[in-house]
Amino acid sequence: MTVVTRFAPSPTGRLHVGNIRTALHNFLFAAKHGGRFLLRIDDTDRERSTAEAEAAIHADLAWLGLAPDAVFRQSDRFDLYEREFERLRAAGRIYACYETPEELDLRRKVLLGRGLPPVYERPAQENAPVEGRSPHWRFRLDHDSPIGWDDLIRGEQKFDPRLISDPVIRRADGSWLYLLPSVIDDIDLGVTHVVRGEDHVSNSAVQLQMFAALGADPPQFAHEALLVAAEGKLSKRLGAVGVGEMQEEGLEPMALLSLLARLGTSQPVEPIGHLPELAATFDFDHFGRAPAHFDMEQVGQLNARLLHQHDYAGVATRLPDWVDADRWLALRSALTRLSDIDQWHEVVAGDIPVPSLSEEDRTFVAAAAGAANSTDWTADPWHALTNALKAETGRKGRALFHPLRKAITGQDSGPEMGPLVRLLGKERVVRRLEVAAQST
Ligand code: GLU
Repeated sequence: MTVVTRFAPSPTGRLHVGNIRTALHNFLFAAKHGGRFLLRIDDTDRERSTAEAEAAIHADLAWLGLAPDAVFRQSDRFDLYEREFERLRAAGRIYACYETPEELDLRRKVLLGRGLPPVYERPAQENAPVEGRSPHWRFRLDHDSPIGWDDLIRGEQKFDPRLISDPVIRRADGSWLYLLPSVIDDIDLGVTHVVRGEDHVSNSAVQLQMFAALGADPPQFAHEALLVAAEGKLSKRLGAVGVGEMQEEGLEPMALLSLLARLGTSQPVEPIGHLPELAATFDFDHFGRAPAHFDMEQVGQLNARLLHQHDYAGVATRLPDWVDADRWLALRSALTRLSDIDQWHEVVAGDIPVPSLSEEDRTFVAAAAGAANSTDWTADPWHALTNALKAETGRKGRALFHPLRKAITGQDSGPEMGPLVRLLGKERVVRRLEVAAQST
């Protein structure tokens, strides 16, 4: 069996972290099993769907690296829905209803008033047409078939169809509600696994009966616990966090994806640079039932850690011209955002302003210039230099390292000194130490 998953957003706005997470999990599950990941644009609601939102979905998925293997649009498939609708209607599984929303509301209130579940009371016989009203349509649940499935995340699920209203599947104007077209598509496109939020659990219950009514085996379901915004000063409404926000903040797609792949699972959240690596470790067995807390600050931290281990090839096209592979390796440890690299141009490719040091530190860096001059530069010059200075001056820790960093880079903090010093080379390091020693 080839695994087929699908991500089915409605093109009514930008993707946000919640649906990016759903897209990612569908992508990773398919990738792990050598399957196919489909994108289905759920645009049956012609009023709310827009071409801009659809284009943005494509652009966002492309930026994230979650390219679908095929794309379908529900509005191209109305003929198929019509045929299946007629088939179910002929089989007595779809029936016409003429109640107005007010009448339905009243009925619901009466039932609740009597302490009964507000389940739609289906008529004993086919509803007679009502003059001047077009019908809307309901799917007739089979009350004699208990509903159940083994959810890949939630385990055993059971529903009593008698406690569920026959769902409305089509409005009086002929437009489709989400439930039935989704099932028709999942059958037609050979979807094997439906991965989505747990807000869809009750939809799955009625959709299972639709699969059966259409004579198809149902897919397997995985309903994920929802994502919620973590409390904290940087917490934002989740609906506002998406690719646009990531791009504005200069964040790497893999920082977000590394977090979203593991959040709410028993696996550690760690910076992972490539999707195949995330896919290899992806497994619904690791998913928990509790809501997952999303924190933008964590994306920022993962972003920094990702950059610190990033190879040159993966970022080369996005770096300014002055950054070659050696400079990248020497500077990446200083970055929290890729764009921060510009701050280090002078340090590796130009001159730094003369740093001001205390008199004591000037004496120390003068000694350091001498030591650097006699240091063997072929192996690990930074280690050799700091060890020699430690022995010579008795300095250690910050007192040892900080004046050296300040003299060599002009800054109080920055990249790891080992790779940087090697990149700068003996001559430049000695010169900077000498200049700093003479500063006033
Ligand atoms: N368009 C539906 C949604 O965005 C799809 C749900 C599904 O995955 O079946 O909620």
